[in-house]
Amino acid sequence: MKKFYLLLLVSTMAVSAYAQNSDWFYATTDSQSAQTLKSEFPEQIQILETKNSVSAVYMTKEVSVKLKENGNLHGPGYIFRKDKNSAIGAINKVNESNMKILDFTIDQDAYVNQVIGQPDATNIGNTIVTLQNYGTRFNTKPTGVQASYDIKSWWQGMADDAGRGDITVEAFNHGFTDQISVILTIPGSEFPDEYVIIGGHLDSGDYWIQNYAPGADDNGSGIATLTEILRVLLANDFHPKRTVQIMGYAAEEIGLYGSADIAESYANANKDVKSVVQFDMTNYNGSAFDIAIIADGAYTSGVLNLYLIDLLEHYNSSGEHQITYDFSYCGYACSDHVSWTENGYMASFPFEAAMGEDNPNIHTTNDTYEAMGSTAVHSVKFAKLGLEYLIETAKVANMGTNDTDAPNLMIAVKDRNLIYDLGNLTPYTNSVVVFDAAGKKLIQKDKLDVKGSVSLQGLPNGFYIAVFKDKDGKAYSKKFLIK
Ligand SMILES: [Zn+2]
Repeated sequence: MKKFYLLLLVSTMAVSAYAQNSDWFYATTDSQSAQTLKSEFPEQIQILETKNSVSAVYMTKEVSVKLKENGNLHGPGYIFRKDKNSAIGAINKVNESNMKILDFTIDQDAYVNQVIGQPDATNIGNTIVTLQNYGTRFNTKPTGVQASYDIKSWWQGMADDAGRGDITVEAFNHGFTDQISVILTIPGSEFPDEYVIIGGHLDSGDYWIQNYAPGADDNGSGIATLTEILRVLLANDFHPKRTVQIMGYAAEEIGLYGSADIAESYANANKDVKSVVQFDMTNYNGSAFDIAIIADGAYTSGVLNLYLIDLLEHYNSSGEHQITYDFSYCGYACSDHVSWTENGYMASFPFEAAMGEDNPNIHTTNDTYEAMGSTAVHSVKFAKLGLEYLIETAKVANMGTNDTDAPNLMIAVKDRNLIYDLGNLTPYTNSVVVFDAAGKKLIQKDKLDVKGSVSLQGLPNGFYIAVFKDKDGKAYSKKFLIK
């Protein structure tokens, strides 16, 4: 309470000094916040039009900061609009045209189980520290611009090192800031025009802490989580059926700037984005459960939220990968997912804790890795969920370089036996050979029944490939894990 009063006092003085510069801009915000601002600072905001509880406004930069302080618990509380028409257009937009229902199935168990143990807290922690060492990633600061280009270079370098010439990493340039958004694309083999997206903002700071804004949790942790997801996908030679994009958004803190620009351009181009998941703050373990699914009805997709829960129940209900969850609420323009939602796309926002129990140091000079105990264990859970989401929505095109889909050929590992079902392959003319990860041939069995098993006794824990050959000698390979 006292803190709020002091902030109000200081900012009121600053507002009056600032009025002479009249640095006004257009935005949209929820109508209740707009009314509150109008009554507190009548000279600093004009409400242009209100529709469905959202207002198009014209306001000063400085008074816009009050939106965050007055109620919104995390994000800027408003979305920047480049002119009056786009502000008014945004509140009149009809939200449906791009919504296509994704077939939300869960059937990529073999691949998910292969990768789920791989996200590493040390890697995530190292990336967080690298990001906080920029001092500030505020979008107008040279280090903030540099950080955005560096993230592009890191992701490009990771793809190059993995020999993935098919992966592109592009800068998305914005009109109102020199900071770039970064878009990494893993092209889909079967449905290249269908997109599944994960993202998070790469900037830090706000009006008051532009010069030193380490932003370790907000949102160094999100970018570090995305980077670790990318590392694991590359390490497992991930080739999706749908196109996967990983995005680092510019300038979220000043009005969801980068994501609003990108989502609008995707909608204008009629891009078929199946769904989007936002990672903004993943490393502060502030609640009795692990992940807060933000369930604001107007700004997140209930269908996609349920799918994330489905994934958590399927893959993370118990054991070493257990992840607990609950719901929370965040409000208008809380983070970049809202940019996608308002353009008619399905978006969800799994958050580090219940709102109000999240990191108290964000948007201060104390948002450091050290203040989070110098560990990134909490973020690992988000990397796991991100991997499950991408793999299950994009679907794996092949399990490795030699993999080919055989209709209905299925395998499973049980009690150190490889159980198989040949499906449509003709029985008795087939063989299976098991190789280890180094390509060494370990077991061969010929003249397979339609259904049967192959003993794996004596093989150490690890990854293996089973190659089935049909009567014509055509090979179908499946990876599996002994654990
Ligand atoms: Zn944030």
